[in-house]
Amino acid sequence: MPVVPTREIIARAFRERYGVAAINVVNDLTMEAVLAAAEELRAPVIVQTSVKHVKMTGIDAMYAMWVEYAKAVSVPVALHLDHCPERDVISACLAKGWNSVLFDASKLSVEENKRQCIEVVAEARRHGADVEGEIEGFKRTEEMTGDEAEHVQRLETVVDFIAATGVDIFAPAIGNAHGTYKTTPHLDSQRVTDIVEATGTPVALHGGTGMTPEQFSDLIGRGCAKVNISTALKIAFMTSGFDFMTEHPGDYDPPKIFAAQRTAVMEMAKHHIRLFGSEGKAWT
Ligand SMILES: [Zn+2]
Repeated sequence: MPVVPTREIIARAFRERYGVAAINVVNDLTMEAVLAAAEELRAPVIVQTSVKHVKMTGIDAMYAMWVEYAKAVSVPVALHLDHCPERDVISACLAKGWNSVLFDASKLSVEENKRQCIEVVAEARRHGADVEGEIEGFKRTEEMTGDEAEHVQRLETVVDFIAATGVDIFAPAIGNAHGTYKTTPHLDSQRVTDIVEATGTPVALHGGTGMTPEQFSDLIGRGCAKVNISTALKIAFMTSGFDFMTEHPGDYDPPKIFAAQRTAVMEMAKHHIRLFGSEGKAWT
């Protein structure tokens, strides 16, 4: 089974300046399709689970699914828990075998975030797992006001947080948001360079759905080694099901709609893997 530490996948991407697609899956079908896409393109990939879907599926069932599907691929893969403010869910996932977690204490003060993040990193290390940290939080695209910069912490604060906690990956706010952008977002790409130069720590790019190819390649070149994709999977999964039923009214044979959805999710994943330059980068 080619499950490897998240830090190993990220370190190579960071060094060679390509981006690893970190794709949020919502069920068995999407998890299998993302892994199959990575296998087909010989790309490392990070499979992400949200707190919502972990709870909905159950930690044991979600992890059992991961173990079985990961057996079918030979490329390096890792399982990551996305934005999680709940310490008990983090503990349960780390104990189960998740390779990394994003401790999302962005609603707390930076000091309290830092204090708890130090504990999360220590806990993760005991399980051989890695931690992504954030201190600013991300809005939904529909909540963007254009003054996102005012929520950004000073570079000194970021440097101190990364040094004090020892997080493996840092997720800064650079004008990005979760959801579907109305227009191409204005991104503070220099902030990625500043953080990478000051800390040597790889950066995770959130809110990737809807950014332009030029924005991706610029940010990846600056050190965004982990590129999160969530909304694009939801769109591919849901619209392909809707389109199938529209084109085949009255056809209620589930495997047919599942096949259409699998194809759509694989195409979406392959598109992003190619865009981020990680095709052919598998080393196992
Ligand atoms: Zn995010």
